[in-house]
Amino acid sequence: MNFQQLVLASHNAGKLKELQAMLGQSVQLRSIGEFSQVEPEETGLSFVENAILKARNAARISGLPALADDSGLAVDFLGGAPGIYSARYADGKGDAANNAKLLEALKDVPEDQRGAQFVCVLALVRHADDPLPILCEGLWQGRILFEASGEHGFGYDPLFWVPERNCSSADLAPLDKNQLSHRARAMALLRQRLGLA
Ligand code: IMP
Repeated sequence: MNFQQLVLASHNAGKLKELQAMLGQSVQLRSIGEFSQVEPEETGLSFVENAILKARNAARISGLPALADDSGLAVDFLGGAPGIYSARYADGKGDAANNAKLLEALKDVPEDQRGAQFVCVLALVRHADDPLPILCEGLWQGRILFEASGEHGFGYDPLFWVPERNCSSADLAPLDKNQLSHRARAMALLRQRLGLA
């Protein structure tokens, strides 16, 4: 498959830059913000459904093939919560409140039951009604710490222990995290699917 341009279904300039770096320069990512400021309601119950919904919406608005990502943290003990609700786990009060709520929910849970994964699903549609979206899932396995550690990253990074590095994901330098993360894993699969790897 040969795409010269893809519209990324995100208004976040940082995310566009990060995904462009992971994808490589042979495919240009353009922001959906060039076409519309309206964000679709994420009504799916899974990362896959929401990624497809966002990609279809971006393709419909732009008339171009579109890529969307949906990501979050799935904690085993909580049946996969906060999952697709990761960003708004504490009712939209932000990262610090999300992290405090997660620590509280796991306060009596022993270390061996604190397994969790960051999840990223990428969905690529050739057009808005594409019946066969390309789906790539990246999982990053770790566990939830008892207290925050590290200054880098965002979201749940300070609470996410990375076993292969013996530190939290907020302790990792950004370039390091971008080699290991759920987004990096999903993007490596997408590069393969697009024949770029
Ligand atoms: P988004 O899909 O990138 O907007 O991410 C949804 C939410 O999942 C974020 O607001 C964070 O709470 C969480 N999340 C996703 N990826 C990461 C990550 O790499 N580190 C920390 N939190 C993340």
